[in-house]
Amino acid sequence: MNTDTRPSTSHGARAIAPSFDLVLFGGTGDLAMRKLLPALYRRFADGNVSADARIIGVARSSLSDMEYAARAETACRQHLGADFEDSVWAGFGPLLSYVRVDANATSDYQMLAARLAGRETVTRLFFLSTGPDLFAAICKELAAANIVNASSRIMLEKPLGEDALSAGRINDTVGAMVREQQIYRIDHYLGKETVQNLMALRFGNALFEPLWHRGQIKHVQITVAEQLGVEKRADFYDRTGALRDMVQNHLLQLLCILAMEPPATNAADAVRDEKLKVLRALRPIGDAEASTKTARGQYRAGNVGTTTTVGYLEEMGVDPTSQTETFVAIKAEIDTWRWAGVPFYLRTGKRLPQHVAEIVVTFDQVPHSIFTGRFNSDPPNRLVIRLQPDECITLRILAKSPGEAMRLKPVDLALNLGETFKARPLEAYERLLGDAIAGNLTLFMRRDEVEAAWNWIDPIRAAWDADDEGPRPYAAGSWGPAASSALIARDGYAWHDDL
Ligand code: NAP
Repeated sequence: MNTDTRPSTSHGARAIAPSFDLVLFGGTGDLAMRKLLPALYRRFADGNVSADARIIGVARSSLSDMEYAARAETACRQHLGADFEDSVWAGFGPLLSYVRVDANATSDYQMLAARLAGRETVTRLFFLSTGPDLFAAICKELAAANIVNASSRIMLEKPLGEDALSAGRINDTVGAMVREQQIYRIDHYLGKETVQNLMALRFGNALFEPLWHRGQIKHVQITVAEQLGVEKRADFYDRTGALRDMVQNHLLQLLCILAMEPPATNAADAVRDEKLKVLRALRPIGDAEASTKTARGQYRAGNVGTTTTVGYLEEMGVDPTSQTETFVAIKAEIDTWRWAGVPFYLRTGKRLPQHVAEIVVTFDQVPHSIFTGRFNSDPPNRLVIRLQPDECITLRILAKSPGEAMRLKPVDLALNLGETFKARPLEAYERLLGDAIAGNLTLFMRRDEVEAAWNWIDPIRAAWDADDEGPRPYAAGSWGPAASSALIARDGYAWHDDL
C-alpha cells in the first residue's frame, strides 16, 4: 500500500524513488544551506526521494540532529519562499540528521561509520561541500574507516584545484580511493535546464547541424555577466579571480557543448569523449598571444543599475593592492576542420550592467543579395541562446518591412521556454543530485576534461603573471575595460550588446 502523502507535482515519479544515504560534508555551510538542502527538499516534494532515504549533515560544529534539522528548515523556508510547505517539511525534516566530524580528526569518522552501519546495500553518496584543501583528508579518512564501498559515489564541488598540478593532486587522492566511475565532479552549469536545451537544440533537430561549422558560422560569443561583486567570498575570490573561477569551468563547458561533434549516444563517456576533444583542440594562448587574445579587468566604483557600488579594492576582505581580475575576455580558437577560422569570444565579469548568461551564434552574410542597397551592412542571422535570467532562444532573421519599398529589417523569432512549457525548470543542483543518486555521470566532468581545461588556462595565467601592467580598470556597471571591445574589434566584430 502506498502510504506516501506527499502532494503530486508536475515532476512526480514517486514509484521509482531510490533509497540512499547522502553524507553532506560542509553540511552547515553556505552552499548546503542555500542550494543543496533546498534542492533535496524540492526533489522530495516532487516524489523523487524515497521516504527511507537519509541526509546526514557533517561539519565540526556541535549540533544535535534536531538542531541541524531546525537550521535546515530555516534555510529552506528562506530560500524556497512560497514553494516551502509545512506539510512537505513534515516528511522531509525527519530524513535529516547530523554527525560532528572534524575532517582532520581520524577518531571522528567512527561516529560516521556507526551512523552508516547496517545500510551497506543502499546507495551511499559523499558530497564534499568543503574547501578543496580538505578533500585529501576526507578521502583518506573515509577509506581508513572503511566507509566507502564499491558502489559509493563521491561528489566534488568546484574549485577542483587552482591549476593543472593541484587538480591532478586532488584527482590522484580521490582516485586512490574510488574508481573514476564513482567520482562526480560538479560544474553546476551542466545541470542548468538551458544547457540541457543546448544539447536538445543541436542534436534533437536536423535544422542546425548542416549550418554548424565554418563557412556558415562567422563567430560565437559566450557571455556570463554578473551584477554582483565579491559579496562574502572576498577571501576565496581574491586568491582565485575570474579566469579560474568562471572560465576554466563554466565557460569552457559551454564552449564544449556548442563545439563538440555529435556524440554517438547520450551516454556519459560518449559525451565526455567529444567534449575532451574540443578542449584538446583549443589553440594555446601563451606569452606571445595573451596581449592580443585576452583582456582582463578589475572593477572600480560605479553604478550598477540604480545602486552605487565601491570598487573591488575597497571591498571588505580584498587586498587593497590586489591584481586579481574580476573581468576576462578571451578569443578562443579551436583547431579542427569544423571550427578553423571561427573565433569563440568568451567573456565574464562581476559588476557588469546585467545578470545574464548568453550564447550568440552569428551566421555568415548571404553570399549575394538580390535586393539593391546596403546588404553588406545588413545584420546577419543570429541565434541567441539565453541561459539566464530567463530561458529564451531567439533567431534573428531579415524580413521585409511593410510598405512599398523592398526594405529589409531584422526581426526576432523568439521562444521563451518557461512560457512555452509552463513547468517549473529544475534547479541545477536538483538535477545533479538526482543524477548522482541515479548513477548517471553524463553531466559531471571526467578527470581528463578537468585537467585539459587547466592545461589551456595555465599558460594564460602565467602570461598575465609575467606582465607587470595588471588588470585594466573598468567602472562598475560598464561592460568591462576598453581592452575587451578592442579585442573583438581587431577582428572587425563587436560584442552582441554593443550592436
Ligand atoms: P562555507 O560556508 O565556508 O562552509 C564550509 C563548510 O565546511 C561548513 O559546513 C564548515 O562547517 C565545514 N568545515 C570547515 N572546516 C571543516 C573541517 N575541518 N572539518 C569538517 N567540516 C569543516 O563554504 P561554502 O560556501 O558552503 O562552500 C563550500 C565549497 O563549495 C567551497 O569549496 C566553495 O568554493 C564551493 N562552492 C560554493 C558555492 C557557494 O555558492 N557557496 C558555489 C560554488 C562552489 P564547520 O565550520 O562547522 O566545520
